[in-house]
Amino acid sequence: MNDSKPTILHIEQLQKHYPVRGGLFGTRQGLVRAVNGLDLNLRQGETMGLVGESGCGKSTLARLVLGLEAPTAGTLLLKSKPLHQWDQPELRRTVQMIFQDPYSSLNPRWKIGSIIREPLDILGQGPASERKDKAARILERVGLRPDDLARYPHEFSGGQRQRVAIARALAPEPELVVCDEPVSALDVSIRAQVLNLLHELQQDFGLTYLFISHDLSVIGHLCDRVAVMYLGRIVELASKQNFFIAPLHPYARALLTAVPVADPTATIRPMPLRGDLPSPLNPPQGCSFHPRCPHCMEICTRETPLLQKKTTGHSVACWLHQSPPTSHSPTPNRRNDK
Ligand code: SF4
Repeated sequence: MNDSKPTILHIEQLQKHYPVRGGLFGTRQGLVRAVNGLDLNLRQGETMGLVGESGCGKSTLARLVLGLEAPTAGTLLLKSKPLHQWDQPELRRTVQMIFQDPYSSLNPRWKIGSIIREPLDILGQGPASERKDKAARILERVGLRPDDLARYPHEFSGGQRQRVAIARALAPEPELVVCDEPVSALDVSIRAQVLNLLHELQQDFGLTYLFISHDLSVIGHLCDRVAVMYLGRIVELASKQNFFIAPLHPYARALLTAVPVADPTATIRPMPLRGDLPSPLNPPQGCSFHPRCPHCMEICTRETPLLQKKTTGHSVACWLHQSPPTSHSPTPNRRNDK
């Protein structure tokens, strides 16, 4: 991936906290820190894989990027402009989403033509006849026939439905597409076809993908870079090669060694992941991975490591790879440890 490509999405110290209420009077009992000081940049035309366990905040991040929710704090710039300053229709056109489940994401009462045209109708893009032609063209581009416009979702297989969902997302000509586990509900036999289609469409339309997946083989197939998310933060950010060959963060290593590899020369030593993801309502102090980390040191229980560059294109947030703060340096991430 070319590092000189312009940044399309800039995220800095992003936070999304949800108050938890309870008791007779609905008083505030605490805060769920779904996204808790997250830094990430996406370059135009790249595929950024976002990996992490369920509950780590991936879907919340997706909703923030789509503008469906407002952040509690932090910076979220789309094409250098704060997301909250975007005009809603223009934001809807620029950022689209492909959902995990092609069975529930398509309205079963609508014909495919109406489903694909819906975003164009909402955005008022061109006259009705043009929208119809555009829907037919994009349907062909995703590998279906123009006559399929008159059919209903139940008449299609899971893979075909996901092609329809992709056509709907691409119809308004977005620049950034958030793909939320787009092949995990599909048969293994057709996953590669849909991934190849996504790759071809990216080349044709110059798309940028934020690709959320828990499946590392899918990440390895499609992504240029990988961001590892743990309890609301990015703990490792690397090129695909660096991530798969030389991961640095113990959590990233645990994720990788949990996947069986056929290569007997693989050099990463197995590291089983202990315990469950802690609650974002009460995240551990210091490095949030420390209760599960076999390398935990005293500093890990006190201080949160920042995401720091180790080599070109490879950053990690772990005390194994950075010097502890001196008494003269500011406490890392103190502002997030409230
Ligand atoms: Fe483990 Fe400490 Fe690194 Fe956290 S900072 S991953 S606890 S070694």
